[in-house]
This record gives sequence, structure tokens and C-alpha cells, in this order.
Amino acid sequence: MNLAQWLHTSALVSPAAPALFHGTTMQANYGQFASQASALGAWLQSAHGVAAGDRVALYMPNRTEFLVALYAIWWAGAVAVPINYKLHPTEAAWIADNAQVSLVFTDNGNSFSAGVLPAGSTELGIDTHVNRALATMQKHVPTTPVQLDDGALAWLFYTSGTTGRPKGVMLTHGNLSAMALCYPMDVDQVSAEDACVYAAPMSHGAGLYNLIFVRAGARHVVPQSRGFDSQEILDLAAQLREATMFAAPTMLKRLVTVARDQGATGDGIKTVVLGGGPLYAADLVDALDLFGPRFAQIYGQGESPMTITAMPARVIAQRDHPNWRHRLASVGTPHSCIEVRIADDMLNSVPAGTCGEVLARGPAVMAGYWRNPQATAETLVDGWLRTGDIGYLSDDGFLTLTDRSKDVIITGGSNVYPREVEEVMLRHPDVFEVAVVGAPNPEWGEEVVAFVVTHADQAVTPEQLEHWCRNSMASFKKPRRYVFLSELPKNSYGKVLKTELRKQLSQLD
Ligand code: AMP
Repeated sequence: MNLAQWLHTSALVSPAAPALFHGTTMQANYGQFASQASALGAWLQSAHGVAAGDRVALYMPNRTEFLVALYAIWWAGAVAVPINYKLHPTEAAWIADNAQVSLVFTDNGNSFSAGVLPAGSTELGIDTHVNRALATMQKHVPTTPVQLDDGALAWLFYTSGTTGRPKGVMLTHGNLSAMALCYPMDVDQVSAEDACVYAAPMSHGAGLYNLIFVRAGARHVVPQSRGFDSQEILDLAAQLREATMFAAPTMLKRLVTVARDQGATGDGIKTVVLGGGPLYAADLVDALDLFGPRFAQIYGQGESPMTITAMPARVIAQRDHPNWRHRLASVGTPHSCIEVRIADDMLNSVPAGTCGEVLARGPAVMAGYWRNPQATAETLVDGWLRTGDIGYLSDDGFLTLTDRSKDVIITGGSNVYPREVEEVMLRHPDVFEVAVVGAPNPEWGEEVVAFVVTHADQAVTPEQLEHWCRNSMASFKKPRRYVFLSELPKNSYGKVLKTELRKQLSQLD
């Protein structure tokens, strides 16, 4: 089944229903949304030779045309490769090369300097090429999307890996329909009255959730700031009503702080779905006290997108339940299409209450990593996804995450893999050794800290390192602090002891 069929059907049933909004201004109803997606899909085929299975990237901050382009790609049976717009153009170009994309949609066709994109990839600006093409196809009547099997690739989701280079998670149309269909069962009910507000990057979970709201024929709202601004979100929700958004825990903290300062109580917000990083129970209680029962939590990862466990608002708000405190600190119970088990090092299941690696199985779990059979074999074992997260199941079936076995730092909801930062820093001529760790940060969850050993007789300043990093990595990955050491602590095998470095950090604070 081609997911573009959902848009096609919603448009056939309710063509006049409001669909795409820039702030509070409607840009398209469902009829226009589907017609543009179908027209653009036809143009991709005729003018650019895009065929089923071809990869087409999207690299831009949030905008409603992201959805038009996404559905156009699917209409033509091609595979979307949404790239986090916060990535440096050289990082984005690496992904374009790895996925072998033929086209990259960007804001205005000049996001990459000459020669940065791989040969064979062409940049298409929404404000330029796409709008010109759409202007010539205003009378287009939507055709039926290309027919696809459930196993056809829909979305290559690039996630960074411990090897330092991102891996393309292969998400099929079947995976994403399983994800979307679980939402009303496990997270929240949806209707055509709802408004999905894209406050987090559409290249990630927030964008994946569009499917649920397309299927329901609901509104899609991109804030004018094209990102997350607490005041704007509160105002938008109050005007548009029935607003649902996906938010990282750091966004929740900021929303609550701004709302509290002005005596706002989240008028117009229907549901905030939280996930993407650890959520502290105390923050959730603060939010509940101010806004009432409007918060749900989900736990997922690129490899099982938005769909491993969930905790709906009514469970989060059930203060009189004897296990309420424990449940608040958990990530909920498995989604209806997912089985979860906790395993020891040999991947044998362990009893409730015992910590181990979280394994997940079900139709939302990825088909594998793009052209990376080794990583696929390490991560999908006997049909189970090894999440790399550590946790335990309680007797009443709730999963609590206690640690991550993968070496990732989550800062403001974005993942930073230390190895990626270390590789860039090691290229600096004065840097001899470097180890990057996450340090707790009250606003961002964690912040990136680099421990640096310089070559003998060399001195480098934090400002110089900052400049170096700025030139070749996304801003959110740059270390916020540099700590200079004469040597890194290592075990007898020469492996850097990051636990030791984290201990040193807590002593420095
Ligand atoms: P990504 O693949 O970028 O979506 O990152 C997924 C990782 O974020 C998971 O493997 C977890 O370590 C973490 N994560 C996601 N959701 C939650 C949550 N609700 N609570 C704690 N950690 C989470």
C-alpha cells in the first residue's frame, strides 16, 4: 500500500477541508494539497525521470511544502530521504551521496555551494523551481498514486551511529502505516477537527506523525517561526484549537516556564506527545499541574519510529493510582503492534524487575539499514530489534529506561554521537587525542563536553577549537565546553574510560 493513498482518499472525501497552514493562514485545503502533491509527483516523473524506488531528499526547515514534496515523492513511488536541516551542508551532502539521491528539495535551490553535492544529485528550490512548476499545473486533477507493496521503501531515516557515520534506517510503507495506526489505539484519539502543529523538525518524528493527521483529514500547521517558540505555540493553539504537537522534553520545560510566567494554562492545546529523550517525572508533574491532563509520552527510535512504548494522557494524569509515581518515571507499555522483551547479554529474556537491553519486534520495526548488511545483522537479531537502550519491565507491564548502551548524547532532543565529534576534532593539527562525553544540563538534558589532549608543545584555545568545529559540523553537535588534560584515562586495553571522565566532570562543576 502506498501511503500517498491516504492523502488521495482524504482529498476525495473532503476536498474543502482545511489542510495546510502557515501560522494561522490557510495555504491549501485537502483538494489543493492532493492536487499539488499529485502534480509535483507527475513532474518529478516527467521532468526529472524519477521512478519507483528512486531516492529524493528534503533538506529545509519546517514548511508546509515539505508535506507537498513528501507526498509528491510517494505519489511517484519514490523514497523520501528527509535530512535534518540543522546538519552542516557537507554532512547533508554525505547523506545525499550515501542514499544516492537524484534530487534534493531545499528552500530556494542554493543551500549547497558548487561541488558539495555528489555528482548526479540536483538541488530543487521550493521557492524557485517547484513553485514555477506548480504554477503551470494549476488545473491538475489528482491521479491514483503508483501502486506499491507494503515492503516498498517510503523513508530513509538517517541516524548517526557509533561508527561515526550516519546509517540510513529503511522504513517501508508498511512500517509507517503500522506506526500511524497504533497512534489512535495507544496514544490519543484523532479527528478532522485536530490541528497537528509542527514545532519539532519535520525530518524526524514530528514529520512522521503527519500521516496520522492526513488519514484523519485534520489540519497541519507550521509555525511562522518554522521552529519552536513557546509564545508562538501558546498563541497558535489558542487561536487554532485542538492542537496536538510532538515535543522533546526540553521543549516542554520551556513551554511550561513561559506559560507560567504569563499565567497561561495551555488553552487550545489538546495533546503534547513527549519523547525523543529522557523525561523527568518532576518536569511532567510541573506541566500537569499547570496544563492539566494533556500530555502523552512515547518511546521509539529511528529503527522503530515513534513506536515501541506509549503512555496516554489519562495514565499520566491518574494521580490516585497506587503506581502513579512509578508509571510517571516510565515510558509506558508496548504499542499495540509491538512486543517488547528485556534481554541479558546472551539475548535471553530476563524476569520483570531485572534490567537488560530492550528488544522490540513488530510491523513498525525497520527493514534494516540501507546498504549496510553488517549493521543490520548486528541490530536485527532473530527478528528482534536491539534498541541499545537499557531498562526493565515492571510487574504491571510498564517499561522504565535506566541507561543507554549506545554511546549517544541527547541534547535538546537531538542525538549527538561522540565519535562523529571526535573524528572532526582529531583532524585539527594541534589535537592529539580527544574524548567527547555528555554532561547533565538542566535546560538541554545533556550538553556536549570535549576532553582534549594536545600534541606536545602545542597549545590550542577553546575559541580555535570552536571555530574548527563550526566549519564542519552542525551547531548542536559542537562541544559547549573544552577541558584540557595531559592524558586521557584508559583501561589496560587502551580504551578511554569515559565513566572516569564523567566523574571528573562532576568534580569540576
Ligand atoms: P532517535 O533514533 O534519534 O529517535 O533516538 C532514539 C533514542 O532516544 C532511543 O533509543 C532512546 O535512547 C531515546 N528516547 C526516545 N524516546 C525516549 C523516551 N520517551 N524516554 C527516554 N529516552 C527516549
